[in-house]
Amino acid sequence: MNQTTRIRLLLILLAIASAFLVFTIFRDGDVEPALEPLGFSDFIAQVDNGEVDEVEFTNGSARITVTLTNGDEFSTLLPPLYAPEVAGQLIEATPPITITTAPAPDSGIDWIRLLEVLAPLLVLVALVWFILSRMRGGKKEGKNFTDRTKSGDDNSVTFDDVAGAKEAVVELGEIRDFLKDPTRFTEIGAKIPKGVLLYGPPGTGKTLLARAVAGEAGVPFYTLSGSDFVEVYAGVGASRVRKLFDDARENAPAIIFVDEIDAVGRHRGGSATSGNEEREQTLNQLLVEMDGFDTETGVIFIAATNRPDILDSALLRPGRFDRQVAVETPDVDGRRQILAVHSKGKRLGPDADIDTIARRTPGFTGADLANLLNEAALLAARRNQTFIGDKEIDDALDRVIAGPEKGANTLSDREKYIIAYHEAGHAIVGHVLPNADPIHKVSIIARGKALGFTLALPEKDKILRSRSELNDEMAMLLGGRIAEEIIFGDPTTGAHNDIERVTKLARSMVTQYGMSPELGLQKFGSSIGESYASGAPMSEDLAKKIDQEIRTMIAAAGEEAREILTLHRPVLDQMAEALIERETLNKEQLDEIFTKIGPVANADTIDLRTTPSHK
Ligand code: ADP
Ligand code: MG
Ligand code: ZN
Repeated sequence: MNQTTRIRLLLILLAIASAFLVFTIFRDGDVEPALEPLGFSDFIAQVDNGEVDEVEFTNGSARITVTLTNGDEFSTLLPPLYAPEVAGQLIEATPPITITTAPAPDSGIDWIRLLEVLAPLLVLVALVWFILSRMRGGKKEGKNFTDRTKSGDDNSVTFDDVAGAKEAVVELGEIRDFLKDPTRFTEIGAKIPKGVLLYGPPGTGKTLLARAVAGEAGVPFYTLSGSDFVEVYAGVGASRVRKLFDDARENAPAIIFVDEIDAVGRHRGGSATSGNEEREQTLNQLLVEMDGFDTETGVIFIAATNRPDILDSALLRPGRFDRQVAVETPDVDGRRQILAVHSKGKRLGPDADIDTIARRTPGFTGADLANLLNEAALLAARRNQTFIGDKEIDDALDRVIAGPEKGANTLSDREKYIIAYHEAGHAIVGHVLPNADPIHKVSIIARGKALGFTLALPEKDKILRSRSELNDEMAMLLGGRIAEEIIFGDPTTGAHNDIERVTKLARSMVTQYGMSPELGLQKFGSSIGESYASGAPMSEDLAKKIDQEIRTMIAAAGEEAREILTLHRPVLDQMAEALIERETLNKEQLDEIFTKIGPVANADTIDLRTTPSHK
């Protein structure tokens, strides 16, 4: 909620409160219906004319109630000055006037009335108090300012819930041991790190790990997310940080966890946008607090980030995050363990095998795998099955990799043809080239942004990639476009993503990986994806040379793709036809088509020494 909506809300509430107040005042009239008032002189005239039947005085009040002989009633004020005179007149009047005296009106406090008047005021006061406290950094909307989770109640996460992150668990296990029994460590003189930074790609389980430490140690867990500091008023971020640390210290031993710390901890300086000052204040407060406590207080600070590279160097200085734990994308074993954790409570059919899923999901994080199993379970339920079969896993994989299927009839027949040839082009080049990843599936069903897709998966996880692999990948990426050119002679925009990827790859090969013989083993520019011209100063001549080299590499890859597709034109046609008919071809169906190509070289059977170094 920003300031203007808050003010608007305040105005609305004020309007409601004042309407209530006005209503209450008007109701006063109804509660005690006033008699028709009449002027004093009129009353005297009526007395003189003998029209008055009865007069009621009220003790302690100047108001009298008059009943006329014709039954009318009214009230009037009797000025005290005339009271004795009027009284005498009334007593002597003919015909006689009945004179009565009513007791003074109940002067006790009418509580209900009082409440009616005070309630709106109370509402107002509460409102102002609430708003002020918010401005001073009270609660964040819909979410506790500090989300304090004590283990045992709702934080039952343990290390068992985190699979395939052995190193991280070992590191954090030490923290747990310390929190459980600090004296064991302090007595021997061991110094426990006061700050632990978990870093790694999104979805690898960093947040989960931090919760698990608290759950294991059974200590309170105070957490804020870096994004809680975004879009707050001046000074709020800093005061939140202060409160976070105060709360934790009061309840030590405890864990403080700041998730997505990069949102606050991005390195300072640079562009002076308006949000920056607030962020810097928050960061400064964080640094002050981190320096202001030591592990003797029994508080341990854990933070997580996907972007350790953009963190302010002050955060990484010794004495702050003494320990930095990488949480990596899991390997095949890790994936198997994660799948085992997440398939608990899900009914997997006999043909859905965790081992196979693990092998088919290189690059998947824990979050991806959890998502995959959930999608598969949803599909199985939608299909009224009692268990999750291989088919559901397969479909869920497509969904997770490429997004949900789009409505079918959005493509014209001609477009369908073009996409079929395009994807078949990718697949055939990928199949023929020895260092490209094996083709698992080809589809012309639109998913997400892609009109079709060709799924190539490495046989095993790769950490290093060789130049020949990258060259083959470039050719495969261009295979789609080249097939379009060969068949239709009129290329479409469908290849834009392929072209983008090829360009990026070629640029990295030249400027980062030292894979261009022409330019040698030198790094140009600052990082991948960034224009190399924005890095270190570079002569125009050199920039031209880099461009030239990138162009040469891409052209060579395109040429390679063209040769393959021209040579295997009949297979290309056959696969395109099959795709139009079936829309998706799985591994067996593809292998059957590929038999027409005959045996192709496989990277594992190639003697690396004789692999041509330049394609
Ligand atoms: P991160 O904080 O690194 O972005 P999260 O901890 O938020 O990742 O992970 C999101 C979800 O993915 C978790 O709640 C959990 O269900 C699943 N997950 C991620 N990593 C793992 C893992 N190593 N073991 C089990 N589940 C995991
Ligand atoms: Mg997270
Ligand atoms: Zn493509």
